[in-house]
Amino acid sequence: MNCYDCHQLGTNTAAIAVCRNCGGALCPAHIKVTAQEIHRHDGMGLSTLKQGARRLTCLTCHDAENQL
Ligand SMILES: [Zn+2]
Ligand SMILES: [Zn+2]
Repeated sequence: MNCYDCHQLGTNTAAIAVCRNCGGALCPAHIKVTAQEIHRHDGMGLSTLKQGARRLTCLTCHDAENQL
């Protein structure tokens, strides 16, 4: 599978991951890796676990989620 964003630009680059949001295949140049905090209800309240999960998205989805 080739990178979707590169395909839009008229080039073919092998994809190494898939956007968790839109499902598009992505090459290293078009991936946005973010740490996702894991919250857990813990007795009296909410605690944030020290170890965050990994979240891979394309640049389009990353920008869409961070436009505020
Ligand atoms: Zn690409
Ligand atoms: Zn996406």
